[in-house]
Amino acid sequence: MYADQDDVTNLRGLIEQANRAVIFTGAGISTESGIPDFRSPGGLWTKYKPIEFRDFMASEEMRRESWRRKFGMDRTMSTAEPNRGHRAVERLVRTGKVSSVITQNVDGLHQASGVPDEQVIELHGNSTYAKCLGCGQRHELEGIKARFLADETMPVCDACGSEYVKTATISFGQAMPEDEMARAQAETLACDLFIAIGSSLVVYPAAGFPIMAKKNDAGMVILNREPTDLDPYADLVINGEIGPTLGDAVGVN
Ligand code: NAD
Ligand code: ZN
Repeated sequence: MYADQDDVTNLRGLIEQANRAVIFTGAGISTESGIPDFRSPGGLWTKYKPIEFRDFMASEEMRRESWRRKFGMDRTMSTAEPNRGHRAVERLVRTGKVSSVITQNVDGLHQASGVPDEQVIELHGNSTYAKCLGCGQRHELEGIKARFLADETMPVCDACGSEYVKTATISFGQAMPEDEMARAQAETLACDLFIAIGSSLVVYPAAGFPIMAKKNDAGMVILNREPTDLDPYADLVINGEIGPTLGDAVGVN
């Protein structure tokens, strides 16, 4: 479904008027790169119930299952490239229109499109590397993957000996990262336009940011294929495909 031409014109107008915009993204911006989202038909939600943090902590079998899923999915994730939507976002950051990108995604595609690391706020972490829950040490996936795929050997932290090594993502039930939450809040309160793209806006606290922006008198735009619960709060709702809509609005191919 393609967005209405008037919607694209309105979006372009709002972006032009804004002095400091923030972009907030969800899994929908990466589906055009071949990474399935959660809640679309055929999305990951229908295949796998997410492993909650407490189950990961409580059971070695759950930890093993999480690595099975990770490396089962890895080919899609590790070969994915930024699409037209990511490129349009990158352009808006580069020209100074957008101060930062707050993302729920864990795929690293905003950084891959050229948005500087310090302007991407990852609310749900990053699945392209792992972290020890004991001491915080970063672990690259390559070594973990080779050992796991050989005979399902589970990673152990070489710095502290912990068996709790996990992709650097935030699972359901896991504490949100404090620094990222604080930065996202500061950016949200400093913006005059907040654009939510490709998110069903049902995962909290992340979905609280569009409301926070609106309450603070910023303009709020929702671009998503299907309606969301927050549509009534938005100044502009566009139901359409992200790449073509944003690409046309920003003038990026
Ligand atoms: P979601 O799956 O709940 O919602 C995605 C929304 O995007 C849906 O409403 C869908 O209709 C829409 N959409 C999908 N493709 C689109 C397109 N091409 N154009 C327009 N709209 C499109 O995703 P969410 O709100 O981000 O919440 C899911 C959680 O799952 C997040 O917290 C995230 O951490 C995680 N997740 C991340 C990835 C990733 O990193 N790429 C992928 C799956 C899940
Ligand atoms: Zn450790």
